[in-house]
Amino acid sequence: METIVLKFGGTSVGSTDRISAVADLIKTACNEASPVVVVSAMSGETNRLIDLAKSFGTEPNKREFDALVSTGEQVSASLVSIALNQLGLKAKSLSAAQFGMKTTSNFSRAKILDLDKDVILKTIEDGYIPIITGFQGVNNDGDTTTMGRGGSDTTAVAIAAAIKSKRCDIYTDVDGIYTTDPRIVPNAKKLDLISMEEMLELAGQGAKVMQIRAVEFANKYKVLVRVLSSFEPGSGTLILQEEEGMEDAVITGIASQKDQTKFTLHGVVDTPGIASGILSPVSDSGIEVDVIVQNVSVSGKTDFTFTVGNADRAEVESVLTKKMQGISYDELIIDEGIGKVSLVGVGMRSHAGIASTAFNTLADAGINIQMISTSEIKITIVISGDQLEEAVKTLHSAFKLGD
Ligand code: ADP
Ligand code: ASP
Ligand code: MG
Repeated sequence: METIVLKFGGTSVGSTDRISAVADLIKTACNEASPVVVVSAMSGETNRLIDLAKSFGTEPNKREFDALVSTGEQVSASLVSIALNQLGLKAKSLSAAQFGMKTTSNFSRAKILDLDKDVILKTIEDGYIPIITGFQGVNNDGDTTTMGRGGSDTTAVAIAAAIKSKRCDIYTDVDGIYTTDPRIVPNAKKLDLISMEEMLELAGQGAKVMQIRAVEFANKYKVLVRVLSSFEPGSGTLILQEEEGMEDAVITGIASQKDQTKFTLHGVVDTPGIASGILSPVSDSGIEVDVIVQNVSVSGKTDFTFTVGNADRAEVESVLTKKMQGISYDELIIDEGIGKVSLVGVGMRSHAGIASTAFNTLADAGINIQMISTSEIKITIVISGDQLEEAVKTLHSAFKLGD
């Protein structure tokens, strides 16, 4: 049986009118293959639930927090199912517990372990369109977990991988993947194709059009993914597994990430094992650390700096002050107001001078660079958060990425 996964994000199911439009898209998809639908909560709903959970203090119980914030997806799944019934189609909403979406126990950042594809396939065989709640999972204790903001993308790609769908269509509020966030740079250009390698870097560096885990799944299980609009017709952007046939643009896109916190351990006694001594307890808590810099040591002492998202700030601070063993340092400096801008392009491999053009551009704009990290096809620059938008705009124009 040929299947196609259709994932609809928050704005795509943001109102009953939008849900009717989504039902029409699902009906049309039936002509291509058997649709399997994954939905997010209606736009604004997850934020509303998060705010509610925090009304009693800043650190709600993690189990209850996930149980609460996962509910928005159930509402959308049932509403889409009801809307399809009105079109004369049979549909069945399926929650994570119902289709066995097993995850790790890390509440709010749970990772997928397994899912029961037979439940989904049986639903189709019985003549129903499965409408699946994104974002949520169940741990070994039967508790509800969630998979991080944007997690419905990951649910969709994981299902497409499990049932070997012909394609996973990510329907959203933009008509594809752009050279940068079109909300920051209005003349950003839509890409018809993007390589998997570049999409991994863009999503990893904050292009929220797809959650990074979803792109990682697509890469690992070779899922064909397309990003397109649920508001207007169009062919969207295809993420290609191979780069063949693509132009080697020097820079393909720019991603940015605000709301980042920089932790600096100043005056760390420089002995073997300090990096793992500092970072292992952080990663054991399931927190992903980004740009990491360790300075040259002077008189046996060094500075060790890394960044994390603001959402993880409190937990990282607590881990560093309570769980780090055998590391002595003079001072812990925490800067919450930082941002990261990243240039991504496979053409960087064969072109020198990209970094210096980027640094000159930022210098001319009066933007101070705090940290730099590079990979073969990416340059990430840490700057002050209040200059982030300006940095994206000026780099986008310096590399002539716009229309
Ligand atoms: P959904 O609710 O459908 O999951 P998201 O808000 O999570 O939608 O993701 C879509 C948004 O991603 C767009 O509205 C856009 O502002 C943002 N975005 C960031 N970078 C890019 C990019 N390179 N191309 C397209 N959209 C981007
Ligand atoms: N509803 C969740 C969120 O807002 C998951 C998603 O939309 O992908 O992050
Ligand atoms: Mg999203």
